[in-house]
Amino acid sequence: MTAGPDMGEGLFAAIRRRLADPGRVAVIAADGATVTYGDLLDWSGRYASALRALGVAPGDRVAVQVEKSLSTLLLYLGALRAGAVYLPLNTAYTPAELGYFLGDAEPRLVVCDPDRRDVLAGIAGAAPLETLDAEGRGSLHDRAAAASADGSDAPRRADDLAAILYTSGTTGRSKGAMLSHGNLLSNALALCEAWRIGADDVLLHALPVFHTHGLFVATNTTLLAGASMIFLPRFDAAEVVGLLPEATTMMGVPTFYTRLLAQPGFDRALVAHMRLFVSGSAPLSAEVHAAFLDRTGHAILERYGMTETNMIASNPYDGERRPGTVGRPLPGVELRIADPKSGRVLAPGEIGVIEVRGPNVFRGYWRMPEKTAAEFRPDGFFVTGDMGRIDSDGYVAIVGRDKDLIITGGFNVYPAEVEAEIDALPGVRESAVIGVPHPDFGEGVTAVIAPDHQQTVTDPGIRQALAERLAKFKVPKRVVFVDQLPRNTMGKIQKTALRETYRDLYDDGA
Ligand code: AMP
Repeated sequence: MTAGPDMGEGLFAAIRRRLADPGRVAVIAADGATVTYGDLLDWSGRYASALRALGVAPGDRVAVQVEKSLSTLLLYLGALRAGAVYLPLNTAYTPAELGYFLGDAEPRLVVCDPDRRDVLAGIAGAAPLETLDAEGRGSLHDRAAAASADGSDAPRRADDLAAILYTSGTTGRSKGAMLSHGNLLSNALALCEAWRIGADDVLLHALPVFHTHGLFVATNTTLLAGASMIFLPRFDAAEVVGLLPEATTMMGVPTFYTRLLAQPGFDRALVAHMRLFVSGSAPLSAEVHAAFLDRTGHAILERYGMTETNMIASNPYDGERRPGTVGRPLPGVELRIADPKSGRVLAPGEIGVIEVRGPNVFRGYWRMPEKTAAEFRPDGFFVTGDMGRIDSDGYVAIVGRDKDLIITGGFNVYPAEVEAEIDALPGVRESAVIGVPHPDFGEGVTAVIAPDHQQTVTDPGIRQALAERLAKFKVPKRVVFVDQLPRNTMGKIQKTALRETYRDLYDDGA
């Protein structure tokens, strides 16, 4: 992103400056109640005043574990206006996990559900506790209602921190990714341009707001464009079918789209007026992309990003949206493929680790300078840990996390390639390919498959079909069938959990 007039300022200042009409609707609740941009300014100002009155100063962390409601959005914006560092926490985290995050982040204030108040009081340390419930009511809301709407916003520079988001931490302790105002603003502006988001858009927002996707990609772009969003507490496929006629765009994880495809009434006529469906946070299979296109006439636009880097690459708005790829790097974002160990930059077409540099890339891990240093190359590229390849047209394909790479008998197997072949077979709903200890091969390629129950699928049948399409070393040694693959709240398949479940699979020596 080139340095424009927005880039020297904080995220909220940019939202305010671009606001053309305070009478426009910003947020629509599931029941149709609306909140204008004027209301949003007023109420986020009240939240900012309430935070200041509670002792929150610029740079202080405000840790938030609450259900998604309009108040969560007001609190996020209020925190930005008070100059605080917003620290959202997954609502699924247990008190034990929260103990780690709060101890690590040392927030100035903790906001939680009233039901958790007593438990958290024991682990929040010296930080005061305020509450917000699923309806957006609670002690913090009461304070905001009584506070002034017009305290002055803390001036923020591009380098100042806006948020810390803890990564999902599939290995080791979760790390706090420090995101600056410049990171968030540059990325949201790039996305507004790439996806042509404008004031007439109405986004269907059913993502959680403790994660980069729902909080930044969806919310920041909507507010910077002066658009509206239908703000739903969670994704419910039947409810979404009922509300899509009111929307023009939707952002989701792949499971949203598979669930929509399973809904009666989800058809071409329902979504003929829609402008854009975006998918990310986990791979969208080519089968789901094709089924969606077939049913609706819409090619889902797949994009790729991560907590640390914001959005990195996107399929084009105009032009071919190529299934199985995440498109090209966004303007201003540099992306290269390198040898994971040596860091040597690889030629087009070769598989290696995806590395990224640009204004979107985070400022490091909170209080972990060694971990931060270990994940950046000397020339400033961040090593994502995702393995990928760039094709001759510049489209990037992700072949899996480096930690999910399988080494069997000395050969590398990239799970995404095998999964794509399996997903294309009749009778398969979805699959995950993992490596588990094997006495002969080091790791045995293992397929975990959720069948669609329309046709019978068997272990020998699957392996025979794959043997016709894949080199022998890539064909799974065994296939196991499950009803559901384990996923986290963002729809990512939990491969670490699968490896743990099946780690003794080859103990019989077969
Ligand atoms: P998070 O930090 O939770 O957003 O997770 C980021 C990770 O999700 C990335 O490093 C990728 O491994 C994965 N991811 C995000 N978008 C995609 C995508 N479109 N296709 C495949 N993997 C993705």
